[in-house]
Amino acid sequence: MRGGRVGFVPTMGALHEGHLSLVRAAKAQCNTVVVSLFVNPTQFGPTEDLARYPRPFERDRDLLEKEGVAILFAPSVEEMYPAGELTRVNVEGLSEKLDGRSRPGHFRGVMTIVSKLFHIIEPDVAFFGQKDAAQAAVIRRMVRDLNFPVEIVICPIVREPDGLAMSSRNAYLNHDERQSALVLHRSLMRVEDEFRAGEKSVGTLIASAAEVIAQEPRVRLDYFEIVDPDTLDPVQQLEHPALAAVAAYVGTTRLIDNLILTPRK
Ligand code: AMP
Repeated sequence: MRGGRVGFVPTMGALHEGHLSLVRAAKAQCNTVVVSLFVNPTQFGPTEDLARYPRPFERDRDLLEKEGVAILFAPSVEEMYPAGELTRVNVEGLSEKLDGRSRPGHFRGVMTIVSKLFHIIEPDVAFFGQKDAAQAAVIRRMVRDLNFPVEIVICPIVREPDGLAMSSRNAYLNHDERQSALVLHRSLMRVEDEFRAGEKSVGTLIASAAEVIAQEPRVRLDYFEIVDPDTLDPVQQLEHPALAAVAAYVGTTRLIDNLILTPRK
């Protein structure tokens, strides 16, 4: 069943076109595609949405079957975290930036489960989304630091026609919140426009983004940062590609989005 180059797509399920774009990228590059569905408890904070996270297992399985995925790995929590397990994987420092700062312990949980999945699946290449840009940076660093023999491919953000980045958490939004959520993408577009028009001050760009977000009363900004895509440290100068990343609460739902600002040569 399994053979040749093995591609792996880790997910928490509640699949949408963003996830399926990773599956298709894997199919295009690999002989065997493995997808995991696992809502990983260790990456959720005590007040977060672990209990209510959507788990439409049968729908996900059917979608993956239609995509021609050979192997679906959907372990139980007890299988992944048997009684007595103690070990965690942490990327010191990098895990406390952006979402890691807002969600203490989040990347520790993500890196622990990704490490375990890499050992179980033994993929040649693993596919992640640019949607989770900070996660992508932490994973690239972990793979390098721990010598995982896995190539990491980061795939572009898939959006709804109106610009909203696809996310399993979009299902939490009511009609009005769904409209308000567009402000994340709008703030990024404003920053990109001003950058293209010649604005080079990071402070000015961030202030413009915050102004756009402030126009939506249902939305509370968590962070808007412009950082180095690898170190996640704030940049002072926009001379190299930089990651503009936003996180905000729409009602009680926390959403993220980002884009890369690439200076023209
Ligand atoms: P999740 O199920 O939210 O843990 O996501 C599983 C993988 O899908 C991660 O690598 C995400 O970055 C990726 N992903 C989620 N949403 C999108 C999207 N809109 N576009 C591209 N990739 C995505």
